[in-house]
Amino acid sequence: MAIKGGCLCGKIRYQISGRLFDASNCHCSMCRRQHGAAFVTYADFNPDEFKWLSGEDLVRIYEPLPGAGWCFCSQCGSSLAGTDKGKITSITLATVEGDPGINPESHIFVGSAAEWYQINDDLPQFDEWPPETQGPSDKAR
Ligand SMILES: [Zn+2]
Ligand SMILES: [Zn+2]
Repeated sequence: MAIKGGCLCGKIRYQISGRLFDASNCHCSMCRRQHGAAFVTYADFNPDEFKWLSGEDLVRIYEPLPGAGWCFCSQCGSSLAGTDKGKITSITLATVEGDPGINPESHIFVGSAAEWYQINDDLPQFDEWPPETQGPSDKAR
């Protein structure tokens, strides 16, 4: 069954026909500012398996660096996905409806984490990207 999700105002909806993988909590300062949260949980997928179901005209991309970009709703501000060179490569797990079939497996960019938030689980922590990847959605390419 396809994974579906969408933004707060409901205008934008998306579907991922395949499985999610490599879910991680990103604590980097860019994600924190973009989402207004201590960290953001992303999961990767095969970009070929992603499609917008509605509201694509409302989607905006802000990508200050290659591999560090976000898709968000221009009406309600929901951050829906991560981008790499304009391509959507990861989904914000919090916008998925129901059970996404995956749980966060690590904390990344802990080296720049918020000082006011204490990680209180036993998941592996990495200062930046995990050693087996060199960037976002490495395995999705
Ligand atoms: Zn919206
Ligand atoms: Zn980040």
